[in-house]
Amino acid sequence: MTEFCPTIWPEEQTPDQLKHCRDCGLYQHGTRMVWGEGNPMAPILIVLDNPGAREDRENKPYICGTRHTLQRALNEVGLTANDIYVTYILKRRPTKAYDKNRTREICRNHLIEQLNEKTPQLIVCLGNVAVQSFFQNSEVDVKSLRGSFHTIHGYETTVAYHPLAVRRRPNLWHYFIDDWKLIAERYFK
Ligand code: SF4
Repeated sequence: MTEFCPTIWPEEQTPDQLKHCRDCGLYQHGTRMVWGEGNPMAPILIVLDNPGAREDRENKPYICGTRHTLQRALNEVGLTANDIYVTYILKRRPTKAYDKNRTREICRNHLIEQLNEKTPQLIVCLGNVAVQSFFQNSEVDVKSLRGSFHTIHGYETTVAYHPLAVRRRPNLWHYFIDDWKLIAERYFK
């Protein structure tokens, strides 16, 4: 096991035809679009709710708490940055109230196109927002689905808690690690 040291993963540029997407109205919130980060052709694709900030107030790149906790768990189960690509249900971070269901439904189409281009081996949805949006079912949650694999949109998919939830509730860390161990076992088998 290598010593843990979080790194800034490279950002994948938004495709030219979507750089100015205004389909869902989130452009009015003033946050920039983040298409994804990590290895764009990685076998494991993580789906989060929306991008966190990649730059601080002085516009310098930094590693937010979500990335820090996620990378720590990956390191603990032997996965590397090369194995992972991270993307989002929404490609922009909302900063005020918005129509959640409609917005997620619109931007999910971009996610499905992304998947069909990348064809990952495994998908991991982190947190209830990502899970419910990706599974298109508001009744499901991490607690009831974690620890097993499901075929969603044609891809082998599993779920785990959102890294920020794990930071806020340290008692979730061992569940988070158990889930990442399961993912690593599936991947390395
Ligand atoms: S969040 Fe998605 S649908 Fe909304 S503007 Fe960005 S890419 Fe378009």
